[in-house]
Amino acid sequence: MDVNFNKVEFIRSAVSPRDFLRDGLPQLAFAGRSNVGKSSVINRLVNRKNFARVGASPGKTSQINYFRLDGAAYLVDLPGYGYAKVSKAERDRWGRLMEAYFASGLISLGVMIVDARHKPTADDVTMASWFRDTGCPLVVAANKLDKLKKSEIDPNLALIRQTLSLGEGDLLLPFSAEKGVGREDLIGALCASL
Ligand code: GDP
Repeated sequence: MDVNFNKVEFIRSAVSPRDFLRDGLPQLAFAGRSNVGKSSVINRLVNRKNFARVGASPGKTSQINYFRLDGAAYLVDLPGYGYAKVSKAERDRWGRLMEAYFASGLISLGVMIVDARHKPTADDVTMASWFRDTGCPLVVAANKLDKLKKSEIDPNLALIRQTLSLGEGDLLLPFSAEKGVGREDLIGALCASL
């Protein structure tokens, strides 16, 4: 299905399961470690500078943000994880919200943003397994590609694929929110899931 990613509107933030949207539109759920560039990837996809908030104090907001894409699907921005300076109360709130969302059966497609430079963290591995457990397809975007030397790209992608135990059907796309690399491929994968 063709979706115009320039036609995007913020719908609401959810802080508890009663705020989840359940109107049947497909939900494309974006997850990533704090500071991996998830907001930047989303802004790049929708061609806006400050749509999803870049550099918002990492981990401070345990909320799920819903954006509607061209009346066809929701882009669901899940709260970032792995930020060290977060209180236990905040981490617990994050855990309860995520557990409820992953158990809700509402996810149509998982989009994980990881850092192209590094081996995925233990939190990244957990997140990939949560997506897998829902049975939804998973697309992984390896962001900050512009920070890699050419010779590093293939080995790094192989390490990411291996560490996250990606299957043959799971897409791993090199991406640079900064340069726009991979935008068409990611949009293609999102549209193909609809
Ligand atoms: P979030 O916490 O995952 O939403 O991350 P942000 O989108 O706020 O980005 C964190 C930092 O990484 C910011 O300083 C961004 O400018 C930077 N950043 C994001 N994507 C890229 C990228 O593709 N390349 C480079 N070089 N920097 C990036």
